[in-house]
Amino acid sequence: MATAAAPRVYKNFINGEWVDSRSGNAYENRNPANADELIGMFVSSNAEDVDLAVDAAKLAYQKWRLVPAPKRAEILFRAAELLVQHKEQFSKDMTSEMGKVLAETRGDVQEAIDMTYYMAGEGRRLFGQTTPSELPDKFAMSVRQSIGTCGLITPWNFPMAIPSWKIMPALISGNTVVLKPAEDTPLSSYNLVQILTDAGVPEGVVNLVSGNGPNAGAPLAEHLDVPVVSFTGSTAVGRLIAEACAPEFKHCSLEMGGKNIIIVMEDANLDLAVDGAIWGGFGTTGQRCTAASRIAVHKSVYHDFISRFVARVKKLRVGDGLDPGIDMGPCINEQQLKTVMDYVQIGQTEGAKLLTGGHCLTEGPYAKGWFHEPTVFGDCNPKMRVAQEEIFGPVVSLIPIGRLEEAVEVANGVPYGLSASIYTRNVNRAFQAIRDLFTGIVYVNAPTIGAETHLPFGGTKKTGNGHREAAIAAIDFYTEWKTLYIDYSDKLQRAQIDNAE
Ligand code: ADP
Repeated sequence: MATAAAPRVYKNFINGEWVDSRSGNAYENRNPANADELIGMFVSSNAEDVDLAVDAAKLAYQKWRLVPAPKRAEILFRAAELLVQHKEQFSKDMTSEMGKVLAETRGDVQEAIDMTYYMAGEGRRLFGQTTPSELPDKFAMSVRQSIGTCGLITPWNFPMAIPSWKIMPALISGNTVVLKPAEDTPLSSYNLVQILTDAGVPEGVVNLVSGNGPNAGAPLAEHLDVPVVSFTGSTAVGRLIAEACAPEFKHCSLEMGGKNIIIVMEDANLDLAVDGAIWGGFGTTGQRCTAASRIAVHKSVYHDFISRFVARVKKLRVGDGLDPGIDMGPCINEQQLKTVMDYVQIGQTEGAKLLTGGHCLTEGPYAKGWFHEPTVFGDCNPKMRVAQEEIFGPVVSLIPIGRLEEAVEVANGVPYGLSASIYTRNVNRAFQAIRDLFTGIVYVNAPTIGAETHLPFGGTKKTGNGHREAAIAAIDFYTEWKTLYIDYSDKLQRAQIDNAE
């Protein structure tokens, strides 16, 4: 009788070796489109594992920080080349563990490639400033210095891109890292760490501990030998991370929720706006922190927009993201699906008009996954919970608006401030919106999603805590400034005093 092969067990990566967890436990990683498909077992790490990983990273830091940045860059460049070679396989792995369609997981791996090349380029820059001193025979400049071991805690919706957003700037700056990936998508982090190792990252410089938030994430954030913590995830957990970092005044970067908006003015190209709303609202099954979960439409085109938008939503094909005919995959897990279903209920109770969708999908090809129909609520009041709270699923709330000032007030009237977009052909209005939208990212005539790696990424209010990822902004987070004054006058020169006359 044939027996099923034992599932592969994926281990932690500590000090250059794949090792078991001290807990002796492992958990299942299953395909959200088909719960019968077991992708693998991943070890459930605990505080002891985190200690080992941090010890390795701390030791490795002493050498890595002294490797010239252009040499560190060569390793990253090789990693980018290897990622290019493995892009297709890693994309398929990612769709299997995360659910989003293959075109999007290819984009996710591509983002990791872009970030890795970009940060490799930074190896020959890492610019500081040189500037004249106010005193004669004195030289002034600033240089960046590395900090130490970085604890990186990442979510499941961009399983390779987000780890790369944190790992690459940390490494090029001369830091070492311990990564705790999301429980739902550890394989993509495993793939990324394997590539970095193959590219020649020395042992201990990159470490990975898999497991859940309280057992593996919390000890990492709290660890006294981890002076830098970067987190992407929910606002509730972000607050815990901030609290864990506060007593030690750690560098702490938080990227959290969003309640992003597309504003459609009466002079917009409506077909373009509908394209953007479909992509922004239902790309990644709405599970992006930049998802367009609110669409504010000018009253004079509201009904026209609704009929075009809803017709398109009805045509979206839901299913397994590996199938090329599919537009939208499942929710990540049962809990997320339940959250979506709860919000659909809340929206109806609040009096929002259900225009399409509203049900989870359980029959036939959907029986073994966490699928939900793409759902649109119309006639929403901007204060309704479905128009205020992050749902992180395929639910879009339409809000009729009048003047641009009203639209901006609605846009800014939520606790978050990540991304906003306006569709208009009036350049004055576009610039007014750019000025008045209080978000970290603004798009004109494009949806709320689509960040590029060489521009800062992050948001205001409860979306973040003032830091930005990607671009040079990331280097600012992973380094400390050191300001240098070199006096070659051979005498005491007192700043602000001896240059007074
Ligand atoms: P999501 O809703 O995207 O799952 P979470 O904020 O729950 O967002 O999780 C994001 C990351 O934070 C995951 O890697 C998760 O394991 C981790 N995490 C969850 N709880 C904690 C915690 N108490 N301390 C540290 N990390 C945590």
